[in-house]
Amino acid sequence: MSDGRRPPANDNSAATRKCPICGQAAQLRFKPFCSKRCSDVDLNRWLKGSYAIPVTEDDASSEGETEGPSGPR
Ligand SMILES: [Zn+2]
Repeated sequence: MSDGRRPPANDNSAATRKCPICGQAAQLRFKPFCSKRCSDVDLNRWLKGSYAIPVTEDDASSEGETEGPSGPR
């Protein structure tokens, strides 16, 4: 049998990555960030951004076509 497999070249690309938060060299341990702190920062941003999305509640009550006699006038 002949092993014509190529060596894993995925180990080097991670080392050249930069932390998207502070721009420092990312650590394999916290990649793609340089530290847990930056990881948390990014996570916080993501969560906040997710929460910042305005939820479109049913604002169609302007038509006034509701079923029921009880209607605030
Ligand atoms: Zn960082």
